[in-house]
Amino acid sequence: MNPLKFVRPNILALSPYSTARDEFKGGDISVWLDANESPYPSGLNRYPDPHQKRLKDAIAKLKGVRPDQIFIGGSGSDEAIDLTYRIFCRPEIDNAIAIAPSYGVYTVSAEINDVELREVRLGDGYSLPVNALLNAADENSKLIWICSPNNPTGNAFPPSEIIELAEKFDGIVVVDEAYIDFSPYPSLLSVLDSHPNLIVLQTFSKAWGMASLRMGMAFSSPEISDLYGRVKYPYNVNGPTQEELLRRIESTDIRANVEEIISERKKLAGRLASLPRIKEVYPSDANFILAKVDNPDEMYDFLIANGVIVRNRNRVKGCEGCLRFTVGTPEENTRVVNLLSNF
Ligand SMILES: *Cc1c(COP(=O)(O)O)cnc(C)c1O
Repeated sequence: MNPLKFVRPNILALSPYSTARDEFKGGDISVWLDANESPYPSGLNRYPDPHQKRLKDAIAKLKGVRPDQIFIGGSGSDEAIDLTYRIFCRPEIDNAIAIAPSYGVYTVSAEINDVELREVRLGDGYSLPVNALLNAADENSKLIWICSPNNPTGNAFPPSEIIELAEKFDGIVVVDEAYIDFSPYPSLLSVLDSHPNLIVLQTFSKAWGMASLRMGMAFSSPEISDLYGRVKYPYNVNGPTQEELLRRIESTDIRANVEEIISERKKLAGRLASLPRIKEVYPSDANFILAKVDNPDEMYDFLIANGVIVRNRNRVKGCEGCLRFTVGTPEENTRVVNLLSNF
């Protein structure tokens, strides 16, 4: 399957803006008079690499993919979500499909791009409704959004079901793996080459502990990756961010923190489940826990009054009565449980 057949014609025809640094092809330059930069060194006076070559090499090594399969967003994976709509969906004509409840940015970004989003409710136990997703599609359906592990429900879907979807859907399946480091299932990065209509989103915001840096990635076939490169803002990842991330990728080992979060998740789930005002604790493969409680709004306000904030999902369809608890440090988790035992 050629994934380019799902691309908007104007995007396929696009000749991207060519930066001064695109036209420069090697050579031993010591005088830079091509980009109207300031000549006075400030540490920031030069434009950064628009293609983030060194960073892509480092991410390729880290993730076991090739550099030509990587798009890096300097505004997190939210940037990749927006660009995905812009690459594939003609406003007012095409549509996308998403599981519900799921991440709110798929909806907002669809509205911004004037693209209809068809929401398909998760099955029993928040399972993946493969057939219902396929049945929601028509000839103008270009994208299916799957978030796994899913936010806010917390559960991951079996990779075989997502692969089945990609094999049966005549369009692009985007799998948002923001929480994959906390999941018992492996990433779908390993099947990208055999499934050119698959896009995998990941981020440095969660397990890597760099939400402030705003670094997200889209992994895809080289054909799609090339399109992200044309549609993005030319210098979409600033220089200090590129350097900081390179340094951190080389010096950080996330495993100990990830293991602690997973073991705290289990403890926290058990302690929450034992509280009388908590009716149900949903199984989680992420770094948060969704729980159904007696009086969600009152519990939420009570926690805030005691200096603790959680996410109130009571008004989200499919999550009525639910609060979402991010797993914190052991001390923070004990604090929230102790508070709730007095609620
Ligand atoms: C947190 C989160 C992201 C990450 O967004 P960034 O913009 O990279 O910080 C992506 N998808 C989901 C489902 C998330 O919960």
